[in-house]
Amino acid sequence: MYVVHEGEGYQLLQIDLHNSLKNYNYILHLKESEFTVAIDPTDAAVTRAALTRTGWRLDAICTTHHHADHVGGNADLQLHYACPIYGNGADAARIPCLTHPVYADQRVMLGGVTWQVMDVSGHTIGHIAYYIPECGVLFAGDTVFSMGCGRLFEGTAAMMQDAFARISALPPETLLCISHEYTLDNGYFALSIDPHNAALRKRMEEVEKLRAFKQPTVPVMLATERATNPFFRCENAAIKKQLGMEQDASSNEVFGRLRALKDSFKRS
Ligand code: ZN
Ligand code: FE
Repeated sequence: MYVVHEGEGYQLLQIDLHNSLKNYNYILHLKESEFTVAIDPTDAAVTRAALTRTGWRLDAICTTHHHADHVGGNADLQLHYACPIYGNGADAARIPCLTHPVYADQRVMLGGVTWQVMDVSGHTIGHIAYYIPECGVLFAGDTVFSMGCGRLFEGTAAMMQDAFARISALPPETLLCISHEYTLDNGYFALSIDPHNAALRKRMEEVEKLRAFKQPTVPVMLATERATNPFFRCENAAIKKQLGMEQDASSNEVFGRLRALKDSFKRS
């Protein structure tokens, strides 16, 4: 299933992989340069079918982290389109077919716009995000999910909390291109620890309706996540109280507690 999001100067194609991990893939097409970038292609055949439909030629691939559901399409797409593959040079050994290593805090010109590389380690070490200020779009891989966050497979809660703090400082209208449809389950957890949050309840009503019709709940605006995602709200007094934590508990401590609780959360 495809959804096209029209932005100023770009079109963003979202592909629902309909796989067990509930991946979404994104293909960004910059109108002026007619430059097309696949971000974290899961499956080359799916990406090629989408490109055939749009008529776009693939000019580059950007990788956020090494997991198979984010790099699975790299090798075949590179073979077919001879396109460069960008990814974290600090994690080069684990990113298939990497041709253009980039590093945290680097700015890369790609398709006539600037791509800012952010280190967002936590889910993996060497996980990066791509922020494109001209488009107001962030590709954050498995860092931020709507109302949740990625699992800490390699990094620490402190690393992930630091990543969240830096993402939170981006403009509130930034569009977060989220990689998995985990919103509903995340939302039930969020409600369990932030039950009086009116913005969260409203978002959950929307999400339940969207999912009833199998519609995607992402991309989502950063402002919405800041108001509803507990992992962006580690300073919140009501959340600390609900967790039974002291009001002077640090954001790192709150984040770590939230992540641990989410790991074992079962909807009652
Ligand atoms: Zn991952
Ligand atoms: Fe993933």
